[in-house]
Order: sequence, then C-alpha cells, then structure tokens
Amino acid sequence: MKPILVSACLLGLNTRYDGQEKANAEVLQLIQRHKLTAIPICPEQLAGFSTPRSACEFSNGIGIDVINGHGTLHNTDQIDVSAEFVHGATQALNVAKICQCTLALLKERSPSCGVHTVYRNKKQVAGQGVTAALFNQQAITLFSEEELNRLEQYLGNDLNH
Ligand code: SF4
Repeated sequence: MKPILVSACLLGLNTRYDGQEKANAEVLQLIQRHKLTAIPICPEQLAGFSTPRSACEFSNGIGIDVINGHGTLHNTDQIDVSAEFVHGATQALNVAKICQCTLALLKERSPSCGVHTVYRNKKQVAGQGVTAALFNQQAITLFSEEELNRLEQYLGNDLNH
C-alpha cells in the first residue's frame, strides 16, 4: 500500500489553530479507493504549538523565503513564529523520511501546508506554506485537497508503470 502524507485536519483530526478539523469526505474516499496508507501530519503541532493556538500568516515573503531566512510569519499577537514553522516543517520531513514517503496531500492556504496559495498580511497570494516548500525542495510530490482529479490521474499513471 502506497504511503501518502496527509494534513491531519483533512482526515478529521482536531489539529487546526481553532481546535477544529476540516474533514474532507472526498479525500477519505480517494485514500480508500486507491488503498493508500495515509500518514497524518500537522506541522504546527510538530512545531510544538498548542491547539487551539493563535492564527498565523506570512508578514513577509512565502514559505521558501522563510526557509531561506528571508521571510517571516507572525501570529495575531504579533509574535514572530518563523523559527517554529521551520522546525515543524523539518519534523514533518523527518516523518516523510521515516515512512519513505514521496507523496503529500496538503491543506490549501495554510501557512504550513498551502500548496499553491497562502495568506500574507490578510491577502491571498500565490505561494507555498513552509512545510509544502520544504517538501517541494526535497522532491516530495505535492497535491492540495483542491486537486484530487490531478492526484487520481497521478495515481493511475503510477499504477501503470
Ligand atoms: S498545519 Fe496543516 S495539518 Fe496542521 S491544522 Fe494547519 S493545515 Fe491542518
């Protein structure tokens, strides 16, 4: 069974900053249909943040900039949480390595997990969250919950090879 890292909130775990989850029935169905082994990860919990916690967003740059030390994230208390986000991303990458997992399905728009879009200074901008950017750098193939058709296609092709 092929392993896939999945944002824990998409699987129904209460990992979000507000203590809620974002269970996605289509994600769960796809995992079952393709007999994937889902590995739940929440980079912000792995970073050591509590749940619930203050919401965070980029104040400067996007995920790759934070990894390179040129971007920042702040929480609603105006505390710089950039280093914690990088730590959480590194921990999530360790999970990927332990599980020999090269595929991830992540929650769009999250400052950790966003695959194509994140929030910066209250506006949606094109870019990846910190964990998504680190995964991308390490050649982990990324999909968001808004690209399940593309993931289906990828899995179909993969099985034919
Ligand atoms: S960090 Fe990722 S997995 Fe954790 S709650 Fe946010 S979107 Fe979900």
